[in-house]
Amino acid sequence: MSWSLKKKSQVLLDAEQGTVRKDWGGKISVALVYPNTYAVGMSNLGFQTIYRHLNAIPDVVCERVFVPESQDLEEMRRSATPPFSLESLRPLTDFHLVGFSVTYEGDYINVLRLLAMAGIPLRAAARRAHDPLVLMGGVCAFSNPEPIAPFMDFVVVGEGEELVVELIAAYREGYRDRAGFLASLVALEGVYVPGRYDIAYAADGTIAEVVARGGAPSVVAKRRLRNVNAFETVAAVKTPHAEYGHMALLEVGKGCGRGCRFCLEGQVYRPVRHRSVDTLRETVARMAASGERRVGLVGACVSDYPWLGDLLKIVEENGMELSISSLRADSLTEDLVAALARGGHRTLTMAPEAGTERLRRSVRKPITDEQLMTACDLVRAYGIPNLKTYFMIGQPTETIEDVEAIPELAGRMLERLRVLDPSGRPFGRLTLSVSSFVPKPWTPFQWAPFDGAESLQTKLEIIKRAARRFSNMRVLHENPREAALQALLARGDRRVGDFLALAAAHDGDWRRALREWEGDAAFYTTRPRAPDERLAWDHFDVGVKKAGLLREWERARAEDAVAAGAP
Ligand code: SF4
Repeated sequence: MSWSLKKKSQVLLDAEQGTVRKDWGGKISVALVYPNTYAVGMSNLGFQTIYRHLNAIPDVVCERVFVPESQDLEEMRRSATPPFSLESLRPLTDFHLVGFSVTYEGDYINVLRLLAMAGIPLRAAARRAHDPLVLMGGVCAFSNPEPIAPFMDFVVVGEGEELVVELIAAYREGYRDRAGFLASLVALEGVYVPGRYDIAYAADGTIAEVVARGGAPSVVAKRRLRNVNAFETVAAVKTPHAEYGHMALLEVGKGCGRGCRFCLEGQVYRPVRHRSVDTLRETVARMAASGERRVGLVGACVSDYPWLGDLLKIVEENGMELSISSLRADSLTEDLVAALARGGHRTLTMAPEAGTERLRRSVRKPITDEQLMTACDLVRAYGIPNLKTYFMIGQPTETIEDVEAIPELAGRMLERLRVLDPSGRPFGRLTLSVSSFVPKPWTPFQWAPFDGAESLQTKLEIIKRAARRFSNMRVLHENPREAALQALLARGDRRVGDFLALAAAHDGDWRRALREWEGDAAFYTTRPRAPDERLAWDHFDVGVKKAGLLREWERARAEDAVAAGAP
């Protein structure tokens, strides 16, 4: 390994607090891989939690692996260095298990690039006795793992806190050889062994049948944490090199009961489970005692936490400042804004998602313009100068009027925020963050067509042009082509795996892979799906009933018809 790569790892480790270092002797070794850079991976609370839980098992050593920065990739190639763990600089092939934590479908390509660089055969079926077992967890694993399934020995479907302990026990007690171990895993609730499922396709390209073999369940049930109070979800390692590295992250609960029709998180983490105030009190006190000054509350919808007022008091009684990443305008309270202001918040984030009340009702996030304006008044009253707003384009039933309404609404919010300071300068900035809607499995919009990159680009131009009128408004957006990639991977089936392998072979150049791939991306992205079509993720059960989703999909379209004046 080159000296400069070693040195860079050492710099990252030296800046960390909470790194776990364990001796390897006789232990089960797990490489926990985040298929993106260190900065992104270390901001992920789920990744951090599993790192802590695995290392809490006495006979396990778990070390972290990340995707190298692009300049380091070049150095790795030059020095023939395979991907290695941060803690002991060992290559992936030294570990018994290589587990990927995947929260974003676009990272699938990095999963395969890392395997290829490590010299581990990409396809699970091609792995040899001495290769590590390759597994995957994270929200992509229980949303729809099918595009990446051919490359996984097994997949952890659901929340991993309890399951990782059982998996290690199964490995400790039952590992004789790869095939025998995988055969034994099919009995473990929440474990999916893709090699035990045969997929048959109909003449029109849709999935005709999925047949489970060798004792595998015909439907794989998601694992969920029953008692959230029994497992703390806090960041184990602090680092200034991660986005939230300056604060102690604390998850207040799992799931969200709001049911916004586009939202994957709101569906797959059901049922809603809040941690008790007493449990959080203990955690906050311990954080304060260890010298933490700032706590970042994390959860699908933190402002819906039922005992938020009590929690705010606990945080302040412990002399800590508060941070929350995003708030719902309709559950914003004066106490909360005041606490955030006292905590030094300079920016408050809200996600109206759509420019008109009609579209917000249609996607079932029925926040009114009035509630947004009231939220702006609160923000201004407590001297928070900046507002960040999240909007989405390309949602089902959207019209050009809905798109034009986005900058218009943002402009009104900005106007409400702006006050003149004594020097006569206006105060208040607004960031308009625009993302492209990608239909996700397990949501009522799973049958909806993706809007398409060209259409999204046109809509973006409308917004950007209108936003130029406001001097204190900044527009941020992603490239719609990247949203199109995500749309392909989010609802893809196993045949999309060939595209992933091609993209990895082209060193991550997925545009070139798309041109060369024999499959039809539009079949997975812009094609509307019929309600009776068998979907790629229908052999999973995440606790969401298809009939309920279908009802919600029909309601969304009915609300559109009512708005259009249909009888
Ligand atoms: S968008 Fe937010 S409020 Fe709506 S379901 Fe998702 S997490 Fe809950």
